[in-house]
Amino acid sequence: MKVIDHIRQAKDTLVSFEILPPLKGKTINSIYDHLDPLMEFKPSFINVTYHRSEHVFKKKLDGTFEKVEVRKRPGTVGICASIMNHYHVDAVPHLICGGFGKRETEDALIDLHFIGIDNVLVLRGDAAKNETYFEPHAEGHRYASELIKQVVDLNSGIYLEEDIRDGFRTNFCIGVAGYPEKHFECPNLEIDLKYLKNKIDLGAEYITTQMFFDNKKYIEFVEKCREAGIDVPIIPGLKPITNKKQLSIIPRTFHVDIPTDLSNEIMKCKTDDECKKVGTEWLIQQSKELKAFGVPVLHYYTLGSAKVIYNVVKEIF
Ligand code: FAD
Repeated sequence: MKVIDHIRQAKDTLVSFEILPPLKGKTINSIYDHLDPLMEFKPSFINVTYHRSEHVFKKKLDGTFEKVEVRKRPGTVGICASIMNHYHVDAVPHLICGGFGKRETEDALIDLHFIGIDNVLVLRGDAAKNETYFEPHAEGHRYASELIKQVVDLNSGIYLEEDIRDGFRTNFCIGVAGYPEKHFECPNLEIDLKYLKNKIDLGAEYITTQMFFDNKKYIEFVEKCREAGIDVPIIPGLKPITNKKQLSIIPRTFHVDIPTDLSNEIMKCKTDDECKKVGTEWLIQQSKELKAFGVPVLHYYTLGSAKVIYNVVKEIF
């Protein structure tokens, strides 16, 4: 079922989770171990992130280095199929531009359609680890908006091979990313919202936000989206702080602020367990407020924090 239909049919705020494919070498059981306890909350859907390959330098026997391309977290399509089969819950694969050509993407979309997936979260992806700026694949897309067009085309039966006539039409519900604290490459929120609106005008049906730790930022973002004519559901993305290192890692990686009250409390903690307690309480409070505000879904980024998320969601649903 489509995310947008889950939202339309819901009488109250829904819950959803986001997971990363495990590092290459691990089995699907690592996903089940992670998700099993969270299934108690009957998530409406589970997002699975998508990852490009990276260049790494491997030392050879003669002491020189060889540059090789490694995809550390493959498996998004297979994990989505496993989630649907194992839990009978909708899976939402992410799809990125970076590192992928249009043909590869079309094939991935066909695979997703064949296994019964109704949703895709369409993203640009970040710059490769060895690049300062995002560089599109030579035969790929520069912006998420271009990838949306490809999915919309496939939904209309238009394939890259022009000689395919009467090809089946996929029927993907398209979600996109939004940034309450603006995307870091964009000069200001107004311009970012212009591009966000473009993604909606092209066919995206809902937005999932970057994480934020101050609900005011989300609420103001929703208001500004509405003023800009963006009227689709805006799902808040939520993550707990669980250790002191995250006070610098999260702003550096995700370009979001951590409120002073939260950072002060984390700074006082002597152990990770104390940090987790503070992070759990903060996220419970955030979730309660957002639910009262009437958000369509509370979407939790679960990486490395499944237990904390469990303790939070238990208090909310
Ligand atoms: P876009 O919408 O393409 O925007 C990128 C930048 O370009 C923005 O600054 C925007 O303002 C600007 N822009 C857009 N259109 C134009 C235009 N026509 N002309 C000029 N500028 C333009 N990354 C992964 O690699 N895998 C994942 O699974 C993944 N999941 C994510 C899930 C969520 C909910 C979020 C919020 C992010 C996720 N990311 C993921 C990270 C994401 O790929 C990065 O934040 C990326 O830098 C931007 O992606 P986007 O889809 O927002 O890009």
